[in-house]
Amino acid sequence: MNRFLLTLALIATAAALPSATDAQVRFRRPYTGSFGLGFGFDNDGGGGGCRDYDCGSTCYDGHGGEDFAAPWGSEVVAAQEGVVLVASDGCADNGYAGNPCGGYCGNYVQLQHADGSTTIYCHMLSGSLRVSPGARVACGQTVGASASSGSSSGPHLHFGYRNAGGGSEEVFAGACGRGTSLWVGQRGYAEAPSIECSEGTQCGDSPRTMGAIDAKYRELGGCSSFLGAPISGEITAPDGVGRFTRFENGSIYWTLQTGAYEVHGVIRDKWGELGWEAGPLGYPVTDEGPSADGVGRYNHFQNGSIYWSPATGPHEVRGAIRDIWEETGWETGPLGYPTSDEYDVPGGRRSDFEGGYIVYEWATDEATMHLGSDEPSVDMGLPLPSLGDGGLGDGGADDGGSRPRSDGAVPGDDGSTVDAPISSGCSCSVPGGNRAASPHGQRPWGLGLVALFATLAGIRRRRRNR
Ligand SMILES: [Zn+2]
Repeated sequence: MNRFLLTLALIATAAALPSATDAQVRFRRPYTGSFGLGFGFDNDGGGGGCRDYDCGSTCYDGHGGEDFAAPWGSEVVAAQEGVVLVASDGCADNGYAGNPCGGYCGNYVQLQHADGSTTIYCHMLSGSLRVSPGARVACGQTVGASASSGSSSGPHLHFGYRNAGGGSEEVFAGACGRGTSLWVGQRGYAEAPSIECSEGTQCGDSPRTMGAIDAKYRELGGCSSFLGAPISGEITAPDGVGRFTRFENGSIYWTLQTGAYEVHGVIRDKWGELGWEAGPLGYPVTDEGPSADGVGRYNHFQNGSIYWSPATGPHEVRGAIRDIWEETGWETGPLGYPTSDEYDVPGGRRSDFEGGYIVYEWATDEATMHLGSDEPSVDMGLPLPSLGDGGLGDGGADDGGSRPRSDGAVPGDDGSTVDAPISSGCSCSVPGGNRAASPHGQRPWGLGLVALFATLAGIRRRRRNR
C-alpha cells in the first residue's frame, strides 16, 4: 500500500489566468503506460481520513490530486493540448515525504488549457523535462519522465487539476467524486483513463469518430462534410497496423506512420478492388485532391497513386512506371491519364496511358516510356480478343507479390481471364541502345509501329513495389 507514498503538491498557482470558458476541457491518460490509480483525490471535504471518487479508500487524507503508479522513468504526457506555464527542474530525483523542493512537487510541469483550467505533473526525473514555459504542447506530447522528486517517497506521477478559478478539483466522476468525469474516457474503478484526446464526433445516433480520425473528419467538416455520418466505429485493419472508420460516402484510414486520410468515390472503389491497405498500394498518404489540370482527381498511397478522370476512370500507377510518369509531368505531360492499371507483359509490367504506355522490364530493372499506341484502343475493363501468343499472362518473371490483385475480381486486368495486350514487336533500334526489342509478341494487327518510341535514356527506376 505504501509503494508510492503520500505526496503533497502544494503549488503556488498564482499564474492561473482564467479566460472565457470554452467547452470544458477533458483529459487523456497523462502517461503512456497502463498502470492505474494508486492514491486518488480526497473528497471528504476536509474531514479526517479520506474518500475517493467512488467513496472508497484509494486516497489519503487531504490529497489534492491523483497519484498514478508510474514506475521510475515512465513517459509522462500532456493530458490535453495547452500552454506551458511552468517547467521546474533541479530537484533531487529521490525526495522524501515533506521535501519542499519545487513546492513539494519536485521537478514538475504545469499546463494551461483552452478553458483556463490547469494541470500539473509532479515528481519527475531531473533533466527529463521536454517542454519550456510558453511553449504550446499537443495532447499526448511527452513532457518528461516520472521519478520521486519533491515530497514523494516512491516513484509515481502526481496529476493535479485546477479549474479556471484556481480551485483544486477531483477529476474522476463517481458517487463521491464529480458528476461528469473530466477524463475523455474514464474506465473501471482505479483503472487508467483512456488514451483518447477527444470525445469524438457523433452525428445523431451514429457511431463516434475518435482520435486522429476524428481530427481529420472535423477538418473536412464533420457531420456536414461530403463524407456524411460515420457508419462504423473505429476498426482495426486486418494487418493490425492501421485503423479506419467508414462513413456514408467514404472512409478515413490512419496509421502512426502515415497519419489520417480520406478515400471516397470511385477512387476508393478502385483501391478496394486492389485489396485495400493489404494491396500493392498500401495506406493513403493524401486526401483525394484535384489533379493539376483541373480535370481529374487523385489519391496518393504509400506505394503508388490512383488517378481518375471522366474520360478514363480510376486507375492505379506505381513503382518505376509511376516514377517515369511523374518525371514527364503526370497527367499534364505527354502521357495524359492512365487508361489501365499495371498489368503483366512478357518480361515485365506495363501501364497504358492516353498518350502512350510505360513498360517495366524485370531483366533490366528499368521502365521505358513509349509515346503513341501499338495497340487498338481498348478498355481494360473489357475482355480483349485472344492474341494467341501463349506467352502472356502470368509470365515466369512474375514477382507474385506485385500483381495488382490476386483475386481476379476485376475482369480484364488479370491474365487468367483476359489476354493482356502484348508489347510492341518493334525491332527498330532504340535510342540510347539500352532497350532490346521485345522477343515476344507478334503484332496481330496491322496498325503500324509505334508512332514514337521514346526512351528516357539513362533513367533507371528500381521497383519499390513488393
Ligand atoms: Zn499526489
